[in-house]
Amino acid sequence: MDEARRTAKAKLGNEKEHQVFIETGFNMDEYIERVCNVLHPHQPAGGKCPHCHKHTVTVNLVQTRSGDEGMTAIAACESCERTWTAN
Ligand SMILES: [Zn+2]
Repeated sequence: MDEARRTAKAKLGNEKEHQVFIETGFNMDEYIERVCNVLHPHQPAGGKCPHCHKHTVTVNLVQTRSGDEGMTAIAACESCERTWTAN
């Protein structure tokens, strides 16, 4: 949780991160989804897949190998099972 918040703060800024944190009521899954939505508003959960054009895209934050680099947003399509970096 602390690591995720640190990454979110670096990307969103302290104020915005705090707002999301409060609004999601300390629910980690919802928190990450909200952070993703703020960072990638063009590709929210249920977004359109650029490959098969179905609205089955989910975006997840994954920890990169080196903790220093924080997290990367990975988009995945449940229909065609493609994944790509949502940066
Ligand atoms: Zn697809």
